[in-house]
Amino acid sequence: MEKVLIVEDSKVFARVLIRKIEDELFFDTSWASTYEETVYILEESPERPDFFVAVVDLHLPDAPDGHTVDYLIAKGIPVIVYTGAFSEEHRDALWSKRVVDYVLKETPDSLNYVTNLVKRIYKNKYISILVVDDSASVRRHVRRLLEVHDFSVLEASDGNEAMRLLSDNSSIRLVIAEYLTPGMDGLELVRTIRRDHRKEDLAIIGVSASGEALLSSRFLKYGANDYLAKPFASEEFYCRITQSLEMLELVRKLKEASIRDALTGLYNRRYFFDAGKKFHSCALRDSMTLAVAMVDIDFFKKVNDTYGHKAGDEVLKHVAEGLSGRFRGSDIVARYGGEEFCVLAVNMSRQAAMTVFDELRRSIERSRTKVDNKSISVTVSIGVCCEPCKSLEEMLAKADDMLYQCKRSGRNRVMATS
Ligand code: GH3
Ligand code: MG
Ligand code: MG
Repeated sequence: MEKVLIVEDSKVFARVLIRKIEDELFFDTSWASTYEETVYILEESPERPDFFVAVVDLHLPDAPDGHTVDYLIAKGIPVIVYTGAFSEEHRDALWSKRVVDYVLKETPDSLNYVTNLVKRIYKNKYISILVVDDSASVRRHVRRLLEVHDFSVLEASDGNEAMRLLSDNSSIRLVIAEYLTPGMDGLELVRTIRRDHRKEDLAIIGVSASGEALLSSRFLKYGANDYLAKPFASEEFYCRITQSLEMLELVRKLKEASIRDALTGLYNRRYFFDAGKKFHSCALRDSMTLAVAMVDIDFFKKVNDTYGHKAGDEVLKHVAEGLSGRFRGSDIVARYGGEEFCVLAVNMSRQAAMTVFDELRRSIERSRTKVDNKSISVTVSIGVCCEPCKSLEEMLAKADDMLYQCKRSGRNRVMATS
C-alpha cells in the first residue's frame, strides 16, 4: 500500500493535515517532524514504506533551508511544499528544484488545495500524456515537467508517429501538440485525431512559439481543448494540464451519474431500457436466449415501519449488492424503482434462469443487513420471462405477471413463464 508522507514540525498542523488526508482521501500517512526523522522513516524504519507523494514544510528545526525537499526529490518522491514564510526569490529557487507545487499555509482554502493535489498526483500515475514535437530538447523539457507530477509520458517527433502511438495506447488522455512539425502540422494533427477521439474523451493542448495572431483560436476551432504559448512558466503549464484533465473527469462523472441510481449504484431504469433494447434486438436477430426478471422485496413497507426509512435504505443497498454480485458484466442489473429491481441476462436458458434466480432468492433470504446493532432480514419474490417476445416491454410485462403470481401464492419464491 502506498502512503502519503507528511513532514511538518508543528504538531497541530500535522494533525489537521493527517486527519484530512486519512478521512477524506482514505490514504494511509506517515509523519516526520524533522529532517532526521524523514531519513529514518525512509532508510532505517522496519517497514520502510513506499510514498507516492510527500507534503513538506520548508523550514524544519534541523533543516532550515529546505534540505528535506532536495532529499525527497532525489529519492524520486513528488514533493508538495506546504509552507508559511515565503519570498519572491524563494519562488524561482523552489521551481528549479522541481517541486509539484508550493502552497502558502495562510492562504484561505490552502488545506483543500493540498488535499486536491495529493489526489491528483495519485491519479496521474495511471494517465499517459503524449508530447508531439520535432525538437528532442523541447520534448525532454516537457517530459521532465510532466514526470514531476508523476504522469506517464510518451513522445512523438511528428504527426504520423503520434497517430500510431495513440492507436496503440488507450491510456493516453492528453496530447500536447506543437504547431510547427514536419509533414503533418499541429492543426492537421488535431483534425486527424478528432476523427476518432472526441473532446471529452481525449484532450489536446496546442503549443507554439510562433506568435501568429490567430493561432490559438485556430487550434480551438480545429478541436483542441486549450492552447499554450511558448515560452511558458511551469505554473501556467501545470494549471492548464490539470484543468484539461479535470474537465475530462467531470464529463465522465456526469455521464456515469446519469445512468446510475444514486442510492444503490445500480443502473437506473432509463439505462435499463436504453441498453436493454439493443440487447433485445441483437438477441432476436441472432436467436439467442434472453431472460428478463423483476425482483421485488417482500413486505418492504414493514421494514420501513419497524426500523425507519434510513434502515430501509441500507436494506435496499444490501439487496442491490447481492444482486449485482450474481450476474456477469454483460448482463444488466438495474433498480427499476422503489424496492423493485430488474435484470436482463443474455444467453440464459429457462432452466439456467430458474437455477440462478432461485440461488439469488435463497442468498438474500440467508443474509442479514446490519444497521445500528440490528440485524434485518428480508425475502424477495422474482418473476422471470424467458420467452423471446417482440419487445423488451412485453418481456417485462410478462415477468411482472409472474411476480404478481409469486406474491399471491405466498412470496419468497421464483416463478417463470413456461
Ligand atoms: P409486497 O410484498 O407486496 O411487495 O409488499 P411491500 O410492502 O414490499 O410493497 P409496497 O409496494 O406496499 O411498499 C413498498 C415500500 O417501499 C413503500 C415505500 O415507502 C418503500 N420505498 C420505496 N422506495 C424507497 C426508498 O428509496 N427507500 C426506502 N427506505 N423505502 C422505499
Ligand atoms: Mg415489495
Ligand atoms: Mg413493489
